[in-house]
Amino acid sequence: MNKQHLVILGGGFAGLHTYTSLPQSVKKQSTITIIDKNNHFLFTPLLPEVAGSSLHPHNIALPIKDVLGKEAKFIQDSVESVNVREKTVRLSDGQNLKYDMLVSALGANTFFYGTPGAEEHALTFKSLEDAKALRNRCIDIFQEASELESQEERQKLLSFIIIGAGPTGVEVVTEIAELIFGTLSSKYKNISLEDISITLINSGDRVLQMFDEKLSHYAQKSLSKEHIQLLNNIRVTEIKKDSVMTNDGNEIFANTILWTAGVSAIDLNCACGTFKKERGRIHVQKDLSLEDYEHTFILGDMALYPTEDGRGLPMTAQVARQQGIHTAKNIARILKGQSTEVFVYKEKGLLASLGSFNAIGQIKGIHFKGASAWIMWRAVYLMLFNSWKKRFEIMGIWFKNLFSKRDITRFQK
Ligand SMILES: Cc1cc2nc3c(=O)[nH]c(=O)nc-3n(C[C@H](O)[C@H](O)[C@H](O)COP(=O)(O)OP(=O)(O)OC[C@H]3O[C@@H](n4cnc5c(N)ncnc54)[C@H](O)[C@@H]3O)c2cc1C
Repeated sequence: MNKQHLVILGGGFAGLHTYTSLPQSVKKQSTITIIDKNNHFLFTPLLPEVAGSSLHPHNIALPIKDVLGKEAKFIQDSVESVNVREKTVRLSDGQNLKYDMLVSALGANTFFYGTPGAEEHALTFKSLEDAKALRNRCIDIFQEASELESQEERQKLLSFIIIGAGPTGVEVVTEIAELIFGTLSSKYKNISLEDISITLINSGDRVLQMFDEKLSHYAQKSLSKEHIQLLNNIRVTEIKKDSVMTNDGNEIFANTILWTAGVSAIDLNCACGTFKKERGRIHVQKDLSLEDYEHTFILGDMALYPTEDGRGLPMTAQVARQQGIHTAKNIARILKGQSTEVFVYKEKGLLASLGSFNAIGQIKGIHFKGASAWIMWRAVYLMLFNSWKKRFEIMGIWFKNLFSKRDITRFQK
């Protein structure tokens, strides 16, 4: 029997877990190619810690080749389009790859809901480059502000707005606040707390809406202790170079504006026609395959799974990881001539960090907050990062952080 060619698009949570969960028999029966525009897997849950300088960028990036070894081929290139009828993938270097089975898991991009000026003026927070840029910006503007005589000028420079109070917005804002108030402000004699403002803008009536109300109120109190001003029930209607316009008619000035309010799936450009899509997410069947196209699976943030409310599963690493593991099993079943099984998502719980020694957690109806939740958050994320080398690196740095301020070495972009 000819070897089947399995192509996996994206070496993120869904793509890599598909590969690592394939049984050896499948690896022997098939040729496997993984394509990613980056040469590393990015452990996004710890990205805010890179922006806040608790971790270094390389601590949360794992070379895809370290995972694949010699068993699978890795191509570092951008996927341009897929032709599911002819079963080919087109790469940016012009190469056309033929496949027998496809797993497409290219993740998501920032979504601005058409907000005027957002794409032009706001920083985004999806990649390692975004986290490094934010960290560098904080370090640079403190240096710049320290050279200014006028308090008004310093206040202008040291003003930050973060838009979006989901897990990413809240985790980034608390990390940045700790870098700023815990380390940077203590390095400069002429910068005082009154010179700095950090505002979190939230369109909902409470932060971290997916958590129980009591936990999200606890998170709100924690934000105010960290000197973060929270504006609930406010929608940003326009972003300008150094201000945001809000739906209550106000203009709020800030030198740094960060957008974390929305994501949309990477828009898979399909040469052969129309998939049913919503915000780029592709409607999949219950086994995560694409209707009418056999052996084609869409996973993770890209997939709109048929849930009762029609909104699909949350765009989280948990979902992507479970879908990868499930799809590996289905691929093994296909190669044995069996039918595929439907995917059933099992939520393991929710955790969000609120800075050092503080977090909230909700696992099987039990609520955790404060230092115990923070320790659990760290333990869970370390376990989920599938590399002993990285786990030890991260543990070492977290241990060092207990006794020292954050590292403000400025790295080149
Ligand atoms: C800052 C941040 C914090 C987060 N925190 C959490 C958390 O705490 N818990 C949680 O459950 N979820 C969290 N998430 C969400 C989680 O990261 C995503 O839901 C998850 O990564 C989705 O997995 P995926 O495999 O679909 O996509 P990804 O893991 O994003 O993988 C997609 C891969 O495709 C590659 N790629 C994209 N486009 C192309 C292209 N055209 N050609 C080639 N390669 C391409 C990318 O380089 C990437 O490696 C967070 C996300 C962010 C941004």
